[in-house]
Amino acid sequence: MSKIKMVTPLVEMDGDEMTRIIWKMIKDILLEPYIDLNTEYYDLGLVHRNETNDQVTIDSANATKKYGVAVKCATITPNAQRMTEYNLKEMWKSPNGTIRAILDGTVFRAPIIVKGITPLIPTWTKPITIARHAYGDVYKNTEMRVSKGSKAELVVTDENGNETRETIHNFADTDGIIQGLHNTDKSISSFARSCFNFALDVKQDLWFATKDTISKKYDHRFKDIFQEIFDAEYADKFKEAGIEYFYTLIDDAVARVVRSEGGYIWACKNYDGDVMSDMVATAFGSLGMMTSVLVSPDGVYEYEAAHGTVTRHYYKHLKGEETSTNSVATLFAWTGALRKRGQLDNTPELSDFADKLEKATIQTIEDGVMTGDLVALSKLPNKRKVNTEQFLLEIKERLEKLL
Ligand code: NAP
Ligand code: MG
Repeated sequence: MSKIKMVTPLVEMDGDEMTRIIWKMIKDILLEPYIDLNTEYYDLGLVHRNETNDQVTIDSANATKKYGVAVKCATITPNAQRMTEYNLKEMWKSPNGTIRAILDGTVFRAPIIVKGITPLIPTWTKPITIARHAYGDVYKNTEMRVSKGSKAELVVTDENGNETRETIHNFADTDGIIQGLHNTDKSISSFARSCFNFALDVKQDLWFATKDTISKKYDHRFKDIFQEIFDAEYADKFKEAGIEYFYTLIDDAVARVVRSEGGYIWACKNYDGDVMSDMVATAFGSLGMMTSVLVSPDGVYEYEAAHGTVTRHYYKHLKGEETSTNSVATLFAWTGALRKRGQLDNTPELSDFADKLEKATIQTIEDGVMTGDLVALSKLPNKRKVNTEQFLLEIKERLEKLL
């Protein structure tokens, strides 16, 4: 069989620790034997980020803008302990933060569902994708402690120097606290467009919720921007695709989500997304089955696993001990990127290969062959734990039959 050709390069961002080991195994075992991989390679491993003063991260994001699709391995976000471990020149910023800032994107996280692993909420038979607005609100706030006898005001000075003031609170008889939040029409609009585009892409309904009844200016602005952009740019396209945009109050959304069967995208404000994505991920099972894609408002896609570099397994691997690390989310980052590349380049054989590789992966787990994290969750009677590499070889066996 001749290898599948790729027209446009895929931006490949390598990473750290156990996921870096898995990255190479996936390429060696499941990709390179079948595809003439055409990638533009960027090594985002911490050693190389440090050598290039993090320029490689910026370069990889710019390449993603140029080519439109990237696949990223999990990377270490340095902390004080990593400074010594890797002898770093600086505590480099989170690569995901840097890339997101350049692409101005929204992150969509979705679980991979397999038979035999029931979510903690058993009615969830289809994935729930969470889109988190990743700018502003409490994550870029200004906070103060206020002493008794103070008056706190909100002051806005416009470009002509005119001031508008509103009293927040008179702290007449007690100490207290205040917090200043902001967001921008620009960022909210980008978020809305990313969500609408993604919903059209995967043909799923989009839900959005805020607390606009209480926050009549702040949250209401989110609601209005979403509605205005939907009406002006997306209503027809949604109709054509047979999907819906649905707005409700955040408390109502939470209640409906719990009762739902899944199968939609839930757009969340920054804080709601932070909290709800962990809730949804936990209820669906293992982090090793959670995918993540960053989508920019102009349609650039960066695929990755939602989990980190699985440090604990890596240290075992370094000691020569056997590991059983779940490679599914990383593998689905590759298939997601290859499928998208195939769609954009009009090379259906590439997208078709991605579909088959996903199918083989799901089949492997449904046949009872799985990594340790899933063994703990699966209800299959014949389940069998395999090591990191064996799992990929088992997928390969099934893939060969589908090709
Ligand atoms: P983590 O790498 O996601 O791992 C946390 C734990 O979750 C693991 O120890 C493991 O549990 C389980 N787990 C996660 N992924 C798994 C998989 N594929 N297969 C099996 N088990 C899996 O998070 P972390 O330990 O907090 O962070 C490690 C490093 O990753 C940090 O340096 C952090 O900065 C980085 N990170 C990167 C990204 C990213 O690049 N997107 C995201 C998050 C964190 P057990 O040990 O119990 O088996
Ligand atoms: Mg969180």
